[in-house]
Amino acid sequence: MKKRLFLIIMLISVVSSVLSCVMTTVVYYSFYVEDAENKLKSIVELTKDFENWEDEGKINSSVNKILNATDYSMRFTIIRKNGEVVYDSRAKNESLESHKDRPEVAAAFEKGHGEDTRYSSTTKTDMYYYAVKISENEVLRVSRDIRSINSVFIGILPVLVLLFVFLLVIVYASANSFTRRVLKPVKEMTRSLDEMLEDGEVSGVEIYDEFESLSLKIREQKIKINQYIDELKHERDTIGLITENMKEGFILINKNRQILSINTSGKHMIGNDKFDLRPSRNILELIRNSEILQQVENSIEKNIHTIHDIKKDGRHLRYYFSPVKEQYSLKATGLLILIEDITNQKNAEIMRREFSANVSHELKTPLTTIIGFAEMIKEGLITDSDSIRKYCGMINNEGLRLIALIEDIMRLSRIEEGVRPEENSNINLKEIAEETAALLSPKAEELNIHLEVKVVDAFIKANRNYMSELMYNLVDNGIKYNKSGGFVYISVKKDGRQIIISVSDTGVGIAEEYQDRIFERFYRVDKSRSKETGGTGLGLSIVKHIAELYNGKIELKTKEDEGTEITVTFSCLQ
Ligand code: ADP
Repeated sequence: MKKRLFLIIMLISVVSSVLSCVMTTVVYYSFYVEDAENKLKSIVELTKDFENWEDEGKINSSVNKILNATDYSMRFTIIRKNGEVVYDSRAKNESLESHKDRPEVAAAFEKGHGEDTRYSSTTKTDMYYYAVKISENEVLRVSRDIRSINSVFIGILPVLVLLFVFLLVIVYASANSFTRRVLKPVKEMTRSLDEMLEDGEVSGVEIYDEFESLSLKIREQKIKINQYIDELKHERDTIGLITENMKEGFILINKNRQILSINTSGKHMIGNDKFDLRPSRNILELIRNSEILQQVENSIEKNIHTIHDIKKDGRHLRYYFSPVKEQYSLKATGLLILIEDITNQKNAEIMRREFSANVSHELKTPLTTIIGFAEMIKEGLITDSDSIRKYCGMINNEGLRLIALIEDIMRLSRIEEGVRPEENSNINLKEIAEETAALLSPKAEELNIHLEVKVVDAFIKANRNYMSELMYNLVDNGIKYNKSGGFVYISVKKDGRQIIISVSDTGVGIAEEYQDRIFERFYRVDKSRSKETGGTGLGLSIVKHIAELYNGKIELKTKEDEGTEITVTFSCLQ
């Protein structure tokens, strides 16, 4: 701005200087011409009454006197009415043509005097002619050359140049200082703009009144912009917070497939935890899976929502592709990719399917037996009362087994839902162990098994029925899979913040190959023995689920033919 202002001032000054020089020249020239004409007129008026215009010798001497008295050259000519030049102070008479038609001569014969200015081919300059009638037959014409305006201008040119340079220096100096002075408040205002925008005014700075409304406007705009920025920041932070805390993967790309945003879960699920989001990084740099990339293209090109499941490192991932559409044209301007880990859902689905198959199978077996025996009796194949009693007893047993099975299934389903039932705080596991031992001692006695209980007070915040169920299943198994005369040891002890329940027996033990599977639903090592003892294959599964519900840890130690010990440890419980 400073340079521009300076140049404008300089330009105006130079143009006005040139104009004033030109005007000075013109004015000067007109004064010069007028002065020259007046002088000539005065000389002519003074000399027209001269008496001896007939005597050439006297004319010559008089003219020479006049010419000597002036500092410029004049030409005296006497012309007759017929145009004949009778005297000329410069040219020879004979060489001059008729002057009859010269405007000043004609005017002088007519009105007594006449004048004219024209270029003279004789003297090769502009000439001013003034003629007066000195007798009826003659006019006296005096002329002098008048320099052209160009020569006048050239004559005063050095002065003009000097004047111009002088003006230029003065204008340069004043333009500089003027520009600086004019711009000083603007500079100071710019320097103090931040302060001014904060407080509305600045101390010690003189600001043009015209700028006050401008600074007010800037201030208003700054406040608005700050508000917008704050809102945008807030929105960005909120969105960032939401996406960062989502357990689903979140990726946003534009239509050029460049990644605009990605959250930590997204990087993790894709298996690229170290991915660094820099501007213009393409989706190809993040995802290598061709199926997913195909879906990205498909969804953007066709502008449709798609879902695609893939299996990666044993996990099931579901990708949702949603085009981001323009508000009006509804064209896809980008793509939102959400990744959900559906491993648990998938596993639950598989488990549900297996469970249904197992349940159907388990229920079918006793029912087939019941129907078989019932049919035999109906058909009259069994007639004697002892056999009928025997088969009815078997039908009864199978029925009871069926009920036990259904009860176990229902119990397991409830536990598996994962919803903790009402918790009775301060459950003493010592009491539970003693109650279980008391409940199962008749069965133990019947099978000649000795129960030994070694427990301490151990309080736990849990559901009482669940804890009884857990203890019952463990002790029941210890009795069921034991040998006559064998032992079952029930122990509850505390170790720091841990409570350890342990049920060990001196029974048949479990072969190594089955050890991993005994906690599965419906899994039984020896089906016939289990069936014999009324087992459903769900007992340990129920134990496992109850333990998991209270973050307990199960450990199995067993040796075939020697015995089994199952330990459940609960941590950080009171
Ligand atoms: P069940 O109702 O058949 O007892 P469980 O789920 O309680 O079902 O046990 C699964 C299988 O694990 C049993 O069929 C049995 O073969 C084996 N088992 C469980 N506890 C013991 C134990 N204390 N000693 C030996 N085998 C056991």
